[in-house]
Amino acid sequence: MNINKLESIQVWLKTNHNKMVSCAEETECYKWSRWNKDQRTHVFPCVCETRNDDCIFAEMYYRVWQVGQLLEQEDKFVNALLEYENVKGDKGLLKQWFYNQRNLGEGILSLEEIIKIATQKEPYVTMEVVLPKEEIRHLLKFKEVYSECLSFVQV
Ligand SMILES: [Zn+2]
Repeated sequence: MNINKLESIQVWLKTNHNKMVSCAEETECYKWSRWNKDQRTHVFPCVCETRNDDCIFAEMYYRVWQVGQLLEQEDKFVNALLEYENVKGDKGLLKQWFYNQRNLGEGILSLEEIIKIATQKEPYVTMEVVLPKEEIRHLLKFKEVYSECLSFVQV
């Protein structure tokens, strides 16, 4: 299996930005060049018959970029965790906390320390991108706490 370990998300994104741009231009998977022009575009799953390296790299960049977007809001996650420490003993306050974090919570649930990218359909092959745990520790902690609340609030 192909495994990529990243040392730093922000540095990797900067270093590979030009590569992303040229991959997006090269690949027939047109969604990447559209995304490059406007990063608010929704990215659909890849439907390439056979994925080429350009499309695979573009997805890797996109998936790491999504985590980079979360990291840019790290302050908010840290503050939310501090607030959590103050309310976690009180069910009512905890519920309120949870509802206040909805915006942050939405993007966090899909966060994984190891990103899996399908590179081939038959046989099914994936590539793994291992994110630096230390850099995303606040995000992971927030995900843990938020997910716990999610199951608690829905009961
Ligand atoms: Zn594709």
